[in-house]
Amino acid sequence: LDFSLTAEQLALKKRVLAFAANRIASLDDYRLRMKACGEEGLLGLPVPPEYGGSGLSTQSCVVAMEAFGYGCPDQGLAFSVNAQLFTCALPIATYGSEEQRQRWLPGLLDGSLVGGHCVTEPNAGSDFLAMTTRAEPQGDTWVLSGHKSYVTNGPVADVLLVFAATGEGEGLKKELSAFAVDTQLSGVRVGPALRTMGLRSCPISEVQFDHVVLPNDALIGKRGLGGAIFQHEMDRERVCLFAAHLGGMHRLLDKTIEHSKQRMQFGKTLGQFQAVAHRVADDYVNLEAGRLLLLQAAWALDQGQRATLPAAVAKLFVSESYVKSTLHNILNHGGAGYRESEGIEVGLRDSVGSLIYSGTSDIQRNIIARWLGFKA
Ligand SMILES: Cc1cc2nc3c(=O)[nH]c(=O)nc-3n(C[C@H](O)[C@H](O)[C@H](O)COP(=O)(O)OP(=O)(O)OC[C@H]3O[C@@H](n4cnc5c(N)ncnc54)[C@H](O)[C@@H]3O)c2cc1C
Repeated sequence: LDFSLTAEQLALKKRVLAFAANRIASLDDYRLRMKACGEEGLLGLPVPPEYGGSGLSTQSCVVAMEAFGYGCPDQGLAFSVNAQLFTCALPIATYGSEEQRQRWLPGLLDGSLVGGHCVTEPNAGSDFLAMTTRAEPQGDTWVLSGHKSYVTNGPVADVLLVFAATGEGEGLKKELSAFAVDTQLSGVRVGPALRTMGLRSCPISEVQFDHVVLPNDALIGKRGLGGAIFQHEMDRERVCLFAAHLGGMHRLLDKTIEHSKQRMQFGKTLGQFQAVAHRVADDYVNLEAGRLLLLQAAWALDQGQRATLPAAVAKLFVSESYVKSTLHNILNHGGAGYRESEGIEVGLRDSVGSLIYSGTSDIQRNIIARWLGFKA
């Protein structure tokens, strides 16, 4: 086993770190930041070069996203970027027709278009197969109706990958299909941005589809491929988005280490108290272990293996470590950790959502248990 990064990966890491810390920090508008990410190539990292991307391996995407999360204090932006790339652009690049790729990918990759995906509904969250959104074939068109919740990038999206039932079966037998929906179409109603606990720079909303007439070529791949497309998205998002979170966790841990070496209490630095030093040591262990789990899951994806198990393990471990670590950072900073102005408490607010999206921690444990032979 060789754990070293290649020369290209080291250069990528350095470039993305500098971009996130300098260019992104100098922009305060969401669209400008997304555009800058497009110019930097972040919105097309794994997309094949023939469609304008960099064709990077998933392992290199993990390296780039960790660097982005480290350099960019705005985790909401990292969340938006990953949603656009892994739940909209990459599925279109992987499963879409040549026309669909030509229509959507140039804008999604250069950041002039914003994308997201719609699975969750008010009564179908973890149990997403309970979705009631339907698309019915009608002549040369499909008619889409339903209500989707928590759509990341929803309020500003130009295109949404919408999952809908297209057959009669229920539960595991339900036929799901995915459609690239232009949000300008008549009947698409996007709700206002939700007020959320964290990731506040990332716009999230409800989206309703009221008898939206879709051209036949809005269907991605073929009818019934929705389940496979969703699994493809989730395996990659659980690895790459959580690499960005690992980077965020690392940045805050470095801040804590610096603080613990400087602040004196009882005539000693905080780091000389075992209670503080051990919290930092535990967080460091989790950081290192989390990175190995992400890289291992990425490696499995790059080998073309089914990576649902390692991706669930990595997602579960990184998200739970992230929340623990951001709480430790607050404790290690004392009162300063609780003050908004210090930029520490935002870490905890940003981290909590990671226990919920891309499948909750309970759902990751269910996936792992199923792979170990336990029947739900
Ligand atoms: C910041 C954010 C962004 C999101 N972005 C998107 C997006 O872009 N597109 C999208 O489609 N969705 C998105 N979601 C929705 C997200 O995927 C769902 O919130 C998530 O799947 C959980 O569904 P729910 O909220 O309905 O909770 P529920 O499914 O109602 O779960 C509530 C609780 O019950 C537990 N539970 C449920 N079923 C089981 C079970 N079988 N075993 C054990 N425990 C269980 C859950 O773990 C949880 O603790 C986002 C959510 C958040 C918070």
